Amino acid sequence: MLQVKNISFGYNKKKVLKNIDFTINTGEHLSIIGESGSGKSTLLKLLYGEYDLNEGEIFWNKTKILGPAFNLIVGYDFMKYVAQEFDLMPFTTVAENIGEFLSNFYPEEKQKRVEELLEVVQLSTFANTKVKLLSGGQKQRVALARAIAKQPEIILLDEPFSHIDNFKKQSLRRSLFKYLKNKNITCIVATHDKDDAISFSDKMIVLHNSEIIASDTPQQLYNNPKTPLIASFFGEFNVIEPYGIVYSHQIKVVENSSLKATVKQSYYKGNYYLIEANMNEQNLLFKYYKELKKGQEVALSIHK
Ligand code: ADP
Ligand code: MG
Repeated sequence: MLQVKNISFGYNKKKVLKNIDFTINTGEHLSIIGESGSGKSTLLKLLYGEYDLNEGEIFWNKTKILGPAFNLIVGYDFMKYVAQEFDLMPFTTVAENIGEFLSNFYPEEKQKRVEELLEVVQLSTFANTKVKLLSGGQKQRVALARAIAKQPEIILLDEPFSHIDNFKKQSLRRSLFKYLKNKNITCIVATHDKDDAISFSDKMIVLHNSEIIASDTPQQLYNNPKTPLIASFFGEFNVIEPYGIVYSHQIKVVENSSLKATVKQSYYKGNYYLIEANMNEQNLLFKYYKELKKGQEVALSIHK
């Protein structure tokens, strides 16, 4: 179990994180979401022991995580951390990078393990390619495989799919998170992308202005976003009195209603259109299955 007990930290006098307090059970997946600059990476670095806390304590089970002032070599065997900027050995192959920390004592087992890891990050066909020849996204996948190679108890991932293209991203997310769950590895992901979190996290925390402003399951946060900031992670939304936060898919076009809007623009989104409209001088976004023409008047109803 990871216990983060009321920690605070600043690189200088200004606090980047204040009174951060949460726990995660072994095997659970937590995501930390927040805008750029909200302190996600800093929080992961603190969990890893890269900096000394100003206040509070962090424990992994009975072990207290210590910063550099108390711990000569940063990091612990039970914990792996994949930073936003990952560092690999460019002149050796993908397989060698992934196997670097695995024992050479049983070469066949090592080989099998490397093959398994290559499969998790979907790089089997690149096993013998030198890392310097890989794209940014492929390098990121090598970094992920290296981090899980020695089966940590807890893994910290900072924007783990940020360099990976959309073709690969979806299946890679499923593959990696499924692997971590199966092995009961506790996982913390810092991200601004809801798709990294919503399907895979047991719990999410939202950072804003140095503090945790919300902490709940993805379902609860999505269904009852307490602030527009929280809703903005999940998709297009409106603030409509007296309904409050209304996602674009919660507005339906109907035959007749007292809510009338005038279409301003339709954006093609593949399996739907996002319609921008004007309702009593308020800009409105809603989803519709077909294009609507500019100037067209529509009746709407809201279903929350
Ligand atoms: P996020 O990962 O959410 O984008 P960061 O943790 O990287 O946020 O940054 C949080 C704040 O701390 C930002 O204001 C950033 O400028 C500042 N910061 C990050 N790293 C350093 C550093 N090494 N020295 C000083 N300030 C930093
Ligand atoms: Mg960051």
